Amino acid sequence: MTEKRTALELIDIYKSYGSLEVLKGVSLSASDGEVISILGSSGSGKSTLLRCINLLEKPSKGRIIVSGEELELAPGKDGDLQAKTARQLERMRSQIGFVFQNFNLWPHKSILENIIEAPTQVLKQSKDEAIARAEKLLERVGLLDKRNAYPANLSGGQQQRIAIARALAMDPQVLLFDEPTSALDPELVNEVLAVMRSLADEGRTMLIVTHEMRFAREVSNQVVFLHQGQIEESGTPEQVFDHPKSQRVRDFMASHG
Ligand code: ADP
Ligand code: MG
Repeated sequence: MTEKRTALELIDIYKSYGSLEVLKGVSLSASDGEVISILGSSGSGKSTLLRCINLLEKPSKGRIIVSGEELELAPGKDGDLQAKTARQLERMRSQIGFVFQNFNLWPHKSILENIIEAPTQVLKQSKDEAIARAEKLLERVGLLDKRNAYPANLSGGQQQRIAIARALAMDPQVLLFDEPTSALDPELVNEVLAVMRSLADEGRTMLIVTHEMRFAREVSNQVVFLHQGQIEESGTPEQVFDHPKSQRVRDFMASHG
């Protein structure tokens, strides 16, 4: 039997803001091609956890391993962990795609420029090569005709599909999504979920923070429920959605349909 490679491993992640301890020892592991949904009430630490993975937030303690390579961390002046070498951090970040709630496209760059920025700057792809790839990705998310448009001229659903194409342009090992449909009008949610579902189907490794319960149940291999910075319960979608052990998870499921 061939063991699946571990794409992402988080070991005992802690994070405090001053005296507020937001993450209290979170560990999780995603094998290649696995989709993990992270659920939990507002303030439970979901965004902080995702942001710690590529050091958008600096964890106070813990280990981060991407594709078998451990990010070398050491305490900085503030006591939080930081990368020992900027080079390794940049390399590891380029292997982690991040899709935010509010798209975060560069407003003064065209759609095409948004997508080719990182591949040309970080991966040193030639402009022609990056554009050819970007056009394929735009076709994939159904927005090739918007290549010369600017973010402000697109709907929220279109902007989020572009943000996904931009993340894919780096061909990352892992994709992180932080409530990618929460800022969208309800009628635009499905076009984004459809793109995400196609990524799951092609075997992309993904961590998804979402309140779309039906979607999470359908695409996930693992569901993790966070409560006050700790994993309250985790398991298969069947375990966590249909037979939760924790009363907190049961209450959450009941109120989130
Ligand atoms: P979630 O994404 O699950 O809603 P967050 O990770 O955003 O939760 O926040 C967890 C807790 O950390 C909240 O109490 C929030 O107020 C706090 N928090 C998040 N970011 C910061 C910050 N930059 N400074 C201080 N407190 C923060
Ligand atoms: Mg959040």
